[in-house]
Amino acid sequence: MNAKPSHPSVDFDVQRVRADFPLLARTVHGKPLVYFDNANTSQKPAQVIEAVDRHYREHNANVARAVHQLGEEATAAYESARDKLAAFMNASSRNDVVLTSGTTQSINLVAYSYALPRLQPGDAIVTTVMEHHANIVPWQLVAARSGGKVKPAPIDERGELILEKYFELLTPEVKLACVAHVSNVLGTVNPVREIARECRRRGIPLLVDGSQAMPHRPVDVQALGCDFYAITGHKMLAPTGTGALWAKREHLQSMPPFFGGGEMIREVRFDGSTFAEPPHKFEAGTPNIAGFSGVGAAIDYVQSIGFEAIRAWEHELLTYAIERLCEIPGLRIFGEAAEKEPVISFLIDGAQATDMATLLDLEGIAVRSGHHCAHPLMQYYGVPATLRASLAFYNTHEEIDAFIAALLKVRKLLM
Ligand code: PMP
Repeated sequence: MNAKPSHPSVDFDVQRVRADFPLLARTVHGKPLVYFDNANTSQKPAQVIEAVDRHYREHNANVARAVHQLGEEATAAYESARDKLAAFMNASSRNDVVLTSGTTQSINLVAYSYALPRLQPGDAIVTTVMEHHANIVPWQLVAARSGGKVKPAPIDERGELILEKYFELLTPEVKLACVAHVSNVLGTVNPVREIARECRRRGIPLLVDGSQAMPHRPVDVQALGCDFYAITGHKMLAPTGTGALWAKREHLQSMPPFFGGGEMIREVRFDGSTFAEPPHKFEAGTPNIAGFSGVGAAIDYVQSIGFEAIRAWEHELLTYAIERLCEIPGLRIFGEAAEKEPVISFLIDGAQATDMATLLDLEGIAVRSGHHCAHPLMQYYGVPATLRASLAFYNTHEEIDAFIAALLKVRKLLM
């Protein structure tokens, strides 16, 4: 059996980082927790938890409505999250960042407000076989309403998009193209710049699902050259119920509001209402103000560590985890793309994914089992489910060793 390299080649003080995440210190079923379900949601550092706590203890008020001090403080924290997100994604303007509850809401906003009004019978939206349902089902819903269709681009056995096929699908009736920046099941990093370039040549706007990219890599929406970029806060250390949609200004200007209500209007009259400018036009109702205070703190935290260090450490962990997993007889990994983030889906011959995950939980190991909201991908591989271990920069070699030991134990029980 391989032992953990006694000197990880990357200089990263993971124990110092772990000390910021209170939950990582807990036990589960009497065993130290090994949290390998980061693609589902990340754990939160104390800095984020405290920002949320501070909001309710010291600043709680509604945003953009009150002129009193608390209202101003709450609005400042909420709007500062927009500033930080805009800088984090290199948006050219904070007004191009719509704050949402997450990627699902961001994509649905584009589906109903951008795509639906443009789709005619026979039109199409291109997506891929490796997408999360959030980047498939909204397109099916608007296609069904408009007589359009959704065309999936295929992948190969390694879990890489077959780019020529994607480009072949970009025919004149296509009104929007979509792709995940990083697959939540395979970890595959898709060549978004190249796809955006081909889409631009054909005058087709591109939406990128960045839900799984943002926690692992710097994102520069301008350099990527896409039209829409959807993100999730809760996968990058921020509270649940937070996310954003970045879009090119011309698109936001042309899109009608999706939700109607308070805060998104200029004037309301029974003979016709007028609406606020983007992004507020798309932010009806009271948002997750405390959550967005946490988003600001999460971005500060990630920046204090730096993506260079995060990426180096995560890639060392990914290489080590794959190496160790390969020691397990009958283990098959799904997703061997040349460029991959630390998400590993796998199965062991003769063992059901859910049985494995249940028994692993008894060993303190949190992994996800199931279809990962990616039915078409499971259909492609001909399996109902996989196990998925997804890592973050606060994970360690020792946790990978504990995971491998638990897998070997559980495998024996199930064989
Ligand atoms: N897209 C991908 C690739 C995802 O992994 C997820 C979350 N599992 C989503 C979309 C949905 O994101 P949210 O939870 O922010 O709605």
